[in-house]
Amino acid sequence: MPKMIDLTGQRYGNLIVIRIAENEPCKKKKWLCKCDCGADVIVSGSNLRSGHTKHCKKCGNEVARSKKIKHGMTGTKLYYVWQSMINRCENPNSKSYGDYGKKGICVCDDWHDSSIFIKWALEHGYKDWLEIDRIDTFKGYSPENCRWVTRQLNANNKTTNKYIEHNGEMRTLSDWARYYEVNYKNLSRNLNKGYSLQEAVKREKTGDRSHRYCTATGNII
Ligand SMILES: [Zn+2]
Repeated sequence: MPKMIDLTGQRYGNLIVIRIAENEPCKKKKWLCKCDCGADVIVSGSNLRSGHTKHCKKCGNEVARSKKIKHGMTGTKLYYVWQSMINRCENPNSKSYGDYGKKGICVCDDWHDSSIFIKWALEHGYKDWLEIDRIDTFKGYSPENCRWVTRQLNANNKTTNKYIEHNGEMRTLSDWARYYEVNYKNLSRNLNKGYSLQEAVKREKTGDRSHRYCTATGNII
C-alpha cells in the first residue's frame, strides 16, 4: 500500500478537506470535504487533486447551469441589453456614458455577472420588446430599482426628460405626473403654456380648460 498523502485542510475549489472518509486499502482513498455552501461531500483524493470535483453536487449544478446560460445567451438580445447596461455605466468610450456612468449611475455588484442579470430578467417579465427601466432615475441598476417597461414609458422617464423643482424637490416631469396621478401629456402642455407645476396639476385635477393671461409670455392662453 503506497504511503497516503494527507489532504486534510487543503482547499480544492469550493471544497475544504476535513478528514479521511473511508480507509479501504483496495479502493481509492476518499475524503470528507466541506463545500463553501456548508454541505458535506465525500470525494476521492484523485478527483480532488485532478480538479475533477470542486463543489458539492448542488453547487456544481448551479455552476454548470450559469455557464450554460452564459454560453447560450451570448448574442441574444437580452445579453446585448446586459452588455449595453455595463458599457454605458462603466465604459467612458461608450457614447451614453455621459448620461450614466459619469452621472454616478452604477450597476450593482451581482449584475456584473451576466448570468445573474439574465436570471433576474427572465424571472421578472423580460420580453424582447421591453426595455429596462430604473424606477428611481437617480439610482442605479439593481433588482430593487429596475423593471421591464415599454419603450414609450421609458422615454418619458429618461434623465434627459425635463426636471422640475417643486416643494424643494427635483423630479422629472413624468415623475411628478405619476406622483400627482395626472396625465403626463396634459401636464406637459400646461407647463409649456407657462403655468407653474402647482397650477398645471390643479388645472388637470379640476378639469379646468379656461384661458388666462400668461405673465411669462404675455399671451392669452
Ligand atoms: Zn456546495
